[in-house]
Amino acid sequence: MNNKMLPLLAASVVALAGCSSPQKETKVLAFNPANMDTTVTAGEDFYQYACGGWIKNNPLKPEYARFGTFDQLREDNQTQLRDLIEELSSTQHEKGSIGDKIATLYALGLDSVKLNSEGATPVKEQLDAISAIENTDGVASMIATLQREGAYPYFAFFVSADEKNSSMNIIQLYQAGLGLGDRDYYLQADANMESIRDAYKVYINKLFTLAGFSAEQATAATEAVMKTETGIAEVSYTREALRDSQKNYNKMSYADFKSKAGWMNWDAFFAGLGVKDVTDLDPKQLNFFVNLDKVFKNQTLEEQKYYLSYNLLNAAAPYLSDDFVAASFDFYGKTLSGKQEQQPRWKRALNTVNGSLGEAVGQMYVTKYFPASSKEKMLTLVNNLQQALGERIRELTWMGDETKAKAEEKLASFAVKIGYPDKWRDYSGLDIQPDSYWTNVCRSSIFDMEYQLADINKPVDRTRWHMSPQTVNAYYNPTTNEICFPAAILQPPFFNADADDAVNYGAIGVVIGHEMTHGFDDQGRNYDKEGNLTDWWTAEDAERFTERADVLVKQYDNILVLDTVHANGRYTLGENIADHGGLLVSYQAYQNSLKGKETPAPIDGFTNDQRFYLGYATLWGQNIRDEEILRLTKIDVHSLGKWRVNAALRNIETFYDAFGIKASDPMFLDPAERVVIW
Ligand SMILES: [Zn+2]
Repeated sequence: MNNKMLPLLAASVVALAGCSSPQKETKVLAFNPANMDTTVTAGEDFYQYACGGWIKNNPLKPEYARFGTFDQLREDNQTQLRDLIEELSSTQHEKGSIGDKIATLYALGLDSVKLNSEGATPVKEQLDAISAIENTDGVASMIATLQREGAYPYFAFFVSADEKNSSMNIIQLYQAGLGLGDRDYYLQADANMESIRDAYKVYINKLFTLAGFSAEQATAATEAVMKTETGIAEVSYTREALRDSQKNYNKMSYADFKSKAGWMNWDAFFAGLGVKDVTDLDPKQLNFFVNLDKVFKNQTLEEQKYYLSYNLLNAAAPYLSDDFVAASFDFYGKTLSGKQEQQPRWKRALNTVNGSLGEAVGQMYVTKYFPASSKEKMLTLVNNLQQALGERIRELTWMGDETKAKAEEKLASFAVKIGYPDKWRDYSGLDIQPDSYWTNVCRSSIFDMEYQLADINKPVDRTRWHMSPQTVNAYYNPTTNEICFPAAILQPPFFNADADDAVNYGAIGVVIGHEMTHGFDDQGRNYDKEGNLTDWWTAEDAERFTERADVLVKQYDNILVLDTVHANGRYTLGENIADHGGLLVSYQAYQNSLKGKETPAPIDGFTNDQRFYLGYATLWGQNIRDEEILRLTKIDVHSLGKWRVNAALRNIETFYDAFGIKASDPMFLDPAERVVIW
């Protein structure tokens, strides 16, 4: 886990990807006018104008809560990955080889007969161990055991770069422990939240019943879980508070931490995790850890054990028999997201293999599907974007020379990762056995935990990737000051070797600019060129930045996403700054690329500037269910597709010029209300 990493899309989306084969003969249209809805004008609703045809022609399938052009790419890619794994599975592999591990894990995920005959058996030993706990020291040790196995009761442990000494790794603790993902679900009093809580209780009860607990025990367990999680919600930071980098940095000595958060036997916890000699650590949300005291001490031992059992069952449910899987889907898929159907079993098994052996699958994937020429073209684009952002920084009217010089240094220090890692992860220590699906998921979590534990107080390995190559996404990581573009995103509609430059700059160019701008958004700007959390801004420039950022906050706060629900401008600020900056920087890079050349002739009746913005909008066309709108507004730092287009573009002058948008048009924003940051 790396809580600071900034992906282009929600990280909660399991990202599988696709890549057009280099041998593929068919050319993909750079921009397809059939994706448009010309019954509206660009000035009325640009998102509908550019994407309305695609939206109409791609109605939501029952297995999706949201489906966009991104997901189409992922769908195609899942098929390619399935073919790769099936091909692998059709031949014999030496026991313990990568091929054997991938094929064995995938086959276990597909084997419904075996899964259904096992029922709750794969979790029985773990449930028995929880039931045998005799005191709170045993609870502390079990919290560690569960974290090794991939569940996060109360909080989450991980190892990552020390934000004020970014070349070294340090133990970090992060707030967690909520099955509903955000505190609002427990604390808000409206009818919608109440009905979600009611459904959640039914789900908790169901898991305990399926695991063989009596009706009386299941009722007591449900009450214990709700009481515990509501208590945790009360002491959890709000998602807006989580964006304050300084307040979420609290490195201290282990002794100091224990004196502040002595509600648990931390020695027993760290011993259970397998960590010796803890010296210092960073409890990111210090007050959360201090205040967990109330929650923990307010629980009986029996309630603590029920809460731990629930964390185990909730984590295991998707990997057990169909009744568990259905219970998990009914709540998380249907109630919370509005999905109507499960993904087919093969997609779920593929997700598991991708999660456990990501770079091993990635290595096969890039060998077959990633053309080397894409990497070279991307490097050129990245250089052009970097140059354009440098020019824009130098031209900023609101920033002084001193801060500009530091910003330029940071820009020049970006590490750029494209396609796939130079050094692949070694999976030889991961044991995959044909015993049970869930047991292997646990082995994989333990393997990942050991990987992290080996990093404690060791130098940060800057060559490591935080996404697998087959992921349709991109990220910026502030502590390494790196931008990363996995192989799978380097294909249409993002990157199209056959497309005109205008469309490529509008699409992948803006994605590159988006990730670069993250280095200078409300969070990223707090980190210097080395990735250290230090203030390199003059007070005056910081104030001017905040004034401008606050304009964006207000613009997005005003957006109604559904009925009476508004977008959260503060929570989505970093992404909105990145979208806005990405558009401006890529447009400038595109203009630079045209210098000394003739303006390209219109294609399909659209000027090159129009195609730049149409290429951008195409990335965000999507259909989405109401439940998912509400859920994402609570847990996703990104704005919804419609607003990534309409709200971002309303600030951009060249967009108005390209489409002749007038003051009387609904898209028009009074120039006095527009803002330019980067
Ligand atoms: Zn982003």
